Amino acid sequence: MADDWNIRTKLVHTGSRRSQYGEMAEAIFLTQGFAYDSAEQAEARFVKSGDDEFIYARYGNPTVRMFEDRIAAVEGTEDAFATASGMAAVNGALTSMLKAGDHVVSSRALFGSCLYILEDVLGRFGVQVTFVDGTDLDQWRAAVRPDTKAVFLESISNPTLEMIDIRAVAEIAHAQGALVIVDNVFATPVFSRAVDMGADVVVYSATKHIDGQGRALGGVICGSKEFIRKTVEPYMKHTGGSMSPFTAWVMLNGMQTLDLRCRAMAESAGLIASALEGDARLARVIYPGLRSHPQHALAYATLSAPGTMLAIDVKGGKEAAFRMLDGLKIWKISNNLGDAKSIATHPATTTHQRLPVEQKAALGITPGLIRLSVGLEDAGDLLNDLRAGLDLI
Ligand SMILES: *Cc1c(COP(=O)(O)O)cnc(C)c1O
Repeated sequence: MADDWNIRTKLVHTGSRRSQYGEMAEAIFLTQGFAYDSAEQAEARFVKSGDDEFIYARYGNPTVRMFEDRIAAVEGTEDAFATASGMAAVNGALTSMLKAGDHVVSSRALFGSCLYILEDVLGRFGVQVTFVDGTDLDQWRAAVRPDTKAVFLESISNPTLEMIDIRAVAEIAHAQGALVIVDNVFATPVFSRAVDMGADVVVYSATKHIDGQGRALGGVICGSKEFIRKTVEPYMKHTGGSMSPFTAWVMLNGMQTLDLRCRAMAESAGLIASALEGDARLARVIYPGLRSHPQHALAYATLSAPGTMLAIDVKGGKEAAFRMLDGLKIWKISNNLGDAKSIATHPATTTHQRLPVEQKAALGITPGLIRLSVGLEDAGDLLNDLRAGLDLI
């Protein structure tokens, strides 16, 4: 497929495979198995499968392969492996390459389930993990050692939207030969060029912006052909975390509108953040596009738009935050993100409930913090709804 196509063209066309019927829409090959013409052909395929040759849906499937080829083209990596969820992607990227005795450095501000893998799971298998404040390059420099096999980070952290300088961290990691694995969900495949900045492996929860309509769980690991097919694929196909063909079909359709949706949502996020900043009832408005954001310059230098997520800190703590949330009419109280429907989340009592009070405080997850995933509704309506909610606190 054409390498020089722009992202919108790739999102619509790249990776499509047509059957003998020449169908326009991508087909769902809802099959777990594939019949061989002969025993000899079956034997040959188990030795080596060609591009259009499949064995079993846990190993690969034509609809899933379309999704993998399309996301790899958009991300700018040689290949990709589609997974059953975003967490299967994070877990697969790490566990497929690590073994007992290895060392990993990770930023501390992570999605709760990512933290569970890095804090609990890896340690049980003898992998040592050092946590750093991802925004402090001196901490990365001090933590990365000659035996460090990988560094892991969320490029924009959940829920406080701290940005990490991928380029600078990659320089530190590569100097010691460590692989740079980036969870790029908040930055989205359309706003971020993580690979150009030095990321070796980029993982997404496709559940979020890629689906974009809150329907299916999915994930993907993007990287070099060598890493994806020699390291990730054997691990994933034998441990059972592959994406289903139906999910791949949902994601392929989601991708066709991904750029348009993300840009419309980011535009509204910017309008809402600017309009709310300075409201006397808020202690803070956090959005990488605002000048008040500590990494505003980094956001502008590295993202083509500052994202679809913002956070507000309501004065008056949990009670005030709950009164506001309970007064919202358009925004849904839920915990997905990147959906066409706008979503408000109270991290301290939901997504990050598990964390001890001190850890919440250290991560900036205050009792009044509300995370906002801006959807596709009219920005004025969304703003009015938030203001009506604030009137109740
Ligand atoms: C949602 C999310 C995940 C996990 O994805 P699932 O599809 O829910 O498994 C991982 N990392 C980040 C940053 C996320 O937002």
